[in-house]
Amino acid sequence: MIKTNNDLIRQLVDSGYLKTPQIIRAFKKIDRINFVPKDLEADAYQNIPLPIGSGQTISQPLTVAFMLELLEIKKNDRVFEVGFGSGWQTALMAEIVGDKGRIFAVERIKEIWELGKFNINKYGFLDKGIVKIYCQDGSKGLEEGAPFDKIISAASIKFKGKNFLEAIPSVWKSQLKIGGIIVTPIEHSIFKFRKVADNKFEIEEYPGFVFVPLVKNEDY
Ligand code: SAH
Repeated sequence: MIKTNNDLIRQLVDSGYLKTPQIIRAFKKIDRINFVPKDLEADAYQNIPLPIGSGQTISQPLTVAFMLELLEIKKNDRVFEVGFGSGWQTALMAEIVGDKGRIFAVERIKEIWELGKFNINKYGFLDKGIVKIYCQDGSKGLEEGAPFDKIISAASIKFKGKNFLEAIPSVWKSQLKIGGIIVTPIEHSIFKFRKVADNKFEIEEYPGFVFVPLVKNEDY
């Protein structure tokens, strides 16, 4: 039975999703209870997504753990995050990148943006200037933060083709440093793209996940 944050972390470590000491430390410090709605606090440490309003969800803990491990997030990284939602993953990353790192986080829904802003600043990351937040469409990239070491999206790209490199916005590919990593869902898989040279990416696919869709402005 999972009752505490430590129980949740132990489960994520035992099941192999959490591995890296700095990421595990961040999970201990950035408590999910501060990012879930008040009436769902009893479920904060359950390994399930939870509703946060406007039809969106705070991600399942194992998904966040898995994606942050794939992202190879580390101290001093400069990260672009698409769809920050509750702000939980934003705060976890801010804790890991530290004072010299930066998280540029975008969220397209105003009410969720407000919620995430409130939650992220429970740890002072906005006041400290480690996290910068924007209310806009992340599929358009973010000129003012680029180039990035890492790009992570919590919303899934719709795509019916076979060449998955074509699915991701070209601006993400150009705003990523060489050696950088993009972790994003496409349909029901999580993908890791490592930029090994200009226009050259190594690709890994991990199927079997569920995400809310990445909504682009032109979808309206
Ligand atoms: N890691 C977050 C996940 C939130 S769900 C958490 O644990 O809370 C994904 C979020 O992506 C939603 O809040 C949704 O509004 C947002 N989103 C979807 N498409 C987007 C886009 N094009 N630009 C910015 N945010 C987007």
